[in-house]
Amino acid sequence: MLNKEIVDLALNKIKTRRLDSEALAYSFFEKAMQNDEFKENFKQIKHAEIQNAKSEAYGEKPQYDIKKLQQKQDEILKKLKIDKKSITPHYTCKKCNDIGYVDGKMCSCLKHEINLILYEKSGLSKDIRCFDKCDFSIFDNPENTKKLYTVLKNWCDKENNYTNVILIGKTGAGKTYVMECMANDLIQKETLVYFTSAFELNQNLLKYHTTFDQTKGQFIAMLLEPDYLFIDDLGTEPMLKNVTVEGLYNVLSERMREGKKTVISTNLTPQQIQDYYGDRIFSRLLSQNNSLVLNVENSDLRLKK
Ligand SMILES: [Zn+2]
Repeated sequence: MLNKEIVDLALNKIKTRRLDSEALAYSFFEKAMQNDEFKENFKQIKHAEIQNAKSEAYGEKPQYDIKKLQQKQDEILKKLKIDKKSITPHYTCKKCNDIGYVDGKMCSCLKHEINLILYEKSGLSKDIRCFDKCDFSIFDNPENTKKLYTVLKNWCDKENNYTNVILIGKTGAGKTYVMECMANDLIQKETLVYFTSAFELNQNLLKYHTTFDQTKGQFIAMLLEPDYLFIDDLGTEPMLKNVTVEGLYNVLSERMREGKKTVISTNLTPQQIQDYYGDRIFSRLLSQNNSLVLNVENSDLRLKK
């Protein structure tokens, strides 16, 4: 389960929306109820609904013409100068009526709210970087950068694709920039996205490793639960014994088992990845079956399949 605190925070936002629209509708309804004619008609509608439901249960024809009663209600509201739409709540999300779940599954609106919170936490840049607004002229080699972006945009668009994307290249090659474009693109698709630096990830793995009560899980929930995990700058984090390599391996394995996608940027060369993290992580990250490995260096795109 995703960090409960974050889900609750997101759910609260949605709940507030629901209560607000209900309170607003109720205020108009109460105003209408002060009118005797409306009140009487409203009672009749409720009575008719119950009686018709009973008839239906006995397999009989409905006795009351609810449509007619509702037309009358509309007329009364018109006289009272109250918009007929205003007496029923208008939920922001039509899919879940601002409950956050549909058939026990997270509604897209809840995922969106969670993304906004994760977005805040992840420190993604405020000036939203996205594929559409990308200015390629700022790169040394605009044409190659464009090609790279097309490949990555395609990866974001397709569901059945490589599980991992590994972006290799020196600092300043634009890896973080393109990762932010990808993250923003995926957030628009209402999937759960978490963007973190390798340093922060390492800190969470350490907290997980050194916590022994039930709060332990929260430190890796954010790494395991999201549909997409972005890890920026792998290799810049300190190597902690029994934590860094083991933790990363567990996160990657668990995510791959669940079919969840991970995007990693690193300054390290493939050889250095093998040296620092060992064969098990190397084979997971650079296996040609699982990973799309791209060399971003100098925007010189080399595609390895
Ligand atoms: Zn919804």
